[in-house]
Amino acid sequence: LSAAEEESGIVLHAAQEQQLRQDRWQLETDLKRAMDEDQFTLQYQPQIGLQDFATSGFEALLRWKHPGSGFVSPDIFIPLAERGALINQITDWVMHTALRQTSTLPLPGTRARVSINVSPVTLFDPGFPFAIESAVSLWGGSHDQLAVEVTEGTLIQDIDVSKRVLSTLRDKGVRISIDDFGTGYSSLAYFKQLPVDEIKIDKSFITHLAETDIDRKLVESIVELGHKLDLQVVAEGVEEERALNILREIGCDVAQGFLISPALPAEDLHSWFGEGASTRVH
Ligand code: C2E
Ligand code: MG
Ligand code: MG
Ligand code: MG
Repeated sequence: LSAAEEESGIVLHAAQEQQLRQDRWQLETDLKRAMDEDQFTLQYQPQIGLQDFATSGFEALLRWKHPGSGFVSPDIFIPLAERGALINQITDWVMHTALRQTSTLPLPGTRARVSINVSPVTLFDPGFPFAIESAVSLWGGSHDQLAVEVTEGTLIQDIDVSKRVLSTLRDKGVRISIDDFGTGYSSLAYFKQLPVDEIKIDKSFITHLAETDIDRKLVESIVELGHKLDLQVVAEGVEEERALNILREIGCDVAQGFLISPALPAEDLHSWFGEGASTRVH
């Protein structure tokens, strides 16, 4: 290396990049042991109806506590799991754990509805509908207690296969939810072809809802569109009272976000109902 290169920081850059690759490799190796060593947990973020403020369900969010580094974000380890093909096994664990942990919750009328996030790798795996089937029958629930969240990006990878898989799941009574709605590049025409029950408006439209006129207009249009297509519309990332009020005005159905509650450990779910979820917002 020339002095000029050294000076320009290229060396440092290359070293950092190698470090990053090593870290990722190490993390991927550690991830393979995480399941056996009980390092995964689920947390549950409540969702409430905007008409009655009653709890309508929970989103199960995966947590990995790395023995050395502490909690690693799913935005980092999920892509690693997808690459290493561990994701199917992880999703299976998520499904079983979520159904088991929510099976005794006192949700009026039905059992608590729980949503799980499903990666493209898993959605397109031919074994996935069978895996759902056996998880639901093992935990004695009905299928409509389970919702599957997939992103637009997942579905447009292969519309024909998506259509087939979603129909299979839907025929079993599993609810289909489109996550991070509005951030993908999918054309609305796809929704004519795909059996979908719910859209979740991405938090990037919700965060500044009260201050940003354009966001309000977009959210209004999405809600209207959703309702015209008979879809339930959920807003994610609701952090402010003002945003919540606007969402009610607009007629959005369900809200989820830090204002209502962060994701809770399973052992806190009973007290969530005990304290009366509806009294927290107002
Ligand atoms: P997502 O499905 O869109 O989940 C919502 C994310 O927003 C969660 O982050 C949640 O903690 C966060 N969030 C909730 N309320 C608020 C709020 O009011 N403000 C803000 N700023 N953020 C909020 P988390 O738990 O870090 O998950 C990130 C992503 O990782 C998820 O996005 C999902 O795509 C993925 N993920 C999580 N668990 C699983 C899983 O079990 N399987 C798969 N395949 N992906 C998962
Ligand atoms: Mg989600
Ligand atoms: Mg989301
Ligand atoms: Mg997301």
